[in-house]
This record gives sequence, structure tokens and C-alpha cells, in this order.
Amino acid sequence: MEDRSERGDHSIGATGFGGHGRPSRTFASGRVCAEPGCETRLSIYNDDEYCCLHVSPSTPRLRGKKIA
Ligand SMILES: [Zn+2]
Repeated sequence: MEDRSERGDHSIGATGFGGHGRPSRTFASGRVCAEPGCETRLSIYNDDEYCCLHVSPSTPRLRGKKIA
């Protein structure tokens, strides 16, 4: 006699992978960093106005000094 009471929990079912058909957003090409004097070209995938060097607003910047 087989007790199946512990085997009735196979409710894995189909997971909700519906396939996200969301196209990646791109932005205008040819933009440059908004930081004065910085001519770093922004990526079309970068929705910010600044390049990666100037984008962090939480990090205080000291002009002329390198914080690293
Ligand atoms: Zn910059």
C-alpha cells in the first residue's frame, strides 16, 4: 500500500514567462555631456544629460581635484 499524501504537492505549473516584447528605449544620438567643457558623447541608451563621469549627483565633486 502506497501512501501518496506527501506527493500531492507538485503544483509547479506553468510559470508566467510570457516573453516581454518591450523594445529597449533609445535616445537621441550625438548628444554630449551637459557638464561644461565635457565633450563626452552620450550613449543612445543613456537617458541622462551627463556622461558616466558627471552623472552621479550624490557624489560631491571638487573641481580640479580628483576624488578616487
Ligand atoms: Zn561629462
